[in-house]
Amino acid sequence: MTVIQFLDPDTGNTPPRIGVSSCLLGEKVRYDGGHKAQPHILELAAECEFIGFCPEFAAGLGVPRPPVELVAGDSGVRALGLDFPHGDVTELLTKTADTQCLALQRQRIAGYLLKARSPSCGPGDVPVRTDLAISHGMGLFADRLVNAFPDIPVTSEALLDTPARARWFIGICQLTAEFQRWPGAGLPRWHRHYCRELDLPPSIVGPLDRFATGNPHKRGYWPILLGYLLQQIKAAC
Ligand code: SF4
Repeated sequence: MTVIQFLDPDTGNTPPRIGVSSCLLGEKVRYDGGHKAQPHILELAAECEFIGFCPEFAAGLGVPRPPVELVAGDSGVRALGLDFPHGDVTELLTKTADTQCLALQRQRIAGYLLKARSPSCGPGDVPVRTDLAISHGMGLFADRLVNAFPDIPVTSEALLDTPARARWFIGICQLTAEFQRWPGAGLPRWHRHYCRELDLPPSIVGPLDRFATGNPHKRGYWPILLGYLLQQIKAAC
């Protein structure tokens, strides 16, 4: 399913506010002065309110700039750029990330689309160098973001590699925005509608029932549904 019939008619008519790594929107903010525009993501701009942000540009690292890499050591994971004056830009980047997360708290974002493999934006797929090997971890901005916003869908352009997958992600963001404003007492009705509309399997309906019936509990309900919907992105084609 790629088109969701929303319970609240306003949901389909209200563009969800979605944060995005600004290089994916075609802004030339990458270390090499380029961008990483994705055509089928740009096509969805008319249906969303994208909030573009480049953490490295916002931190004042400039364009072009020396590339940053993540290095794990005794003091944790650090962001190093050998050509920067002081080499270590970890504090600068984490402070910038925290400032942006605070600003986003006021904007009620309903999702975030990050650039894969970036030492700042990558959501879990970023090479991290150690003395002996390369492992993978979160970019510095992505790490702060998912901790500050555990209840919104976050993914990277690497997963949204077809128009249908990109469309499905936007649908999840619209659903998130609707859920954010839906009253807790109305959860049983919301649950009945989306069990049918999303054709949820019994393995998901069962755990959701526990939070939607009796004493409705939105905070317990949402992570289960959101996790399932994000897993379904790969099935959209
Ligand atoms: S991946 Fe993130 S830090 Fe790198 S250019 Fe894009 S927005 Fe900026």
